[in-house]
Amino acid sequence: MAADEKYGILIDYEWCTGCHSCEMACKVELGLKEGEGYGIKLHEDGPTLMPNGKYEYLYLPIPTSLCDLCAARTEMGKLPTCVHHCQAACMTYGKVSELAEKAAAKPKQCLFVPC
Ligand code: SF4
Ligand code: SF4
Repeated sequence: MAADEKYGILIDYEWCTGCHSCEMACKVELGLKEGEGYGIKLHEDGPTLMPNGKYEYLYLPIPTSLCDLCAARTEMGKLPTCVHHCQAACMTYGKVSELAEKAAAKPKQCLFVPC
């Protein structure tokens, strides 16, 4: 990774199913036991009755300050384990500049950049 390139994760929460796989995979990677917090935490909202009469459910996993972007894995050329284990393939790891372009092209996405 070049020193001047920032990396991050783009989360397309339109397709997040709320399965918690990213949470669990991350806890294993970071060695976090019960009660020791999360490297990524799924936030859930709804069901909410919208003005159009449809119910909306929102699932959005948000990385915490414990997230190091799976440095040990990415240094070996592997994907972050949350991205690898997402069955919905709604998480993308990459350069922030490239992810920002993807984010601009579609709504209902969040771009995470670590500290
Ligand atoms: S990239 Fe961050 S949130 Fe995802 S598994 Fe690795 S440490 Fe956890
Ligand atoms: S693994 Fe993917 S689909 Fe499952 S909660 Fe995480 S982001 Fe959503």
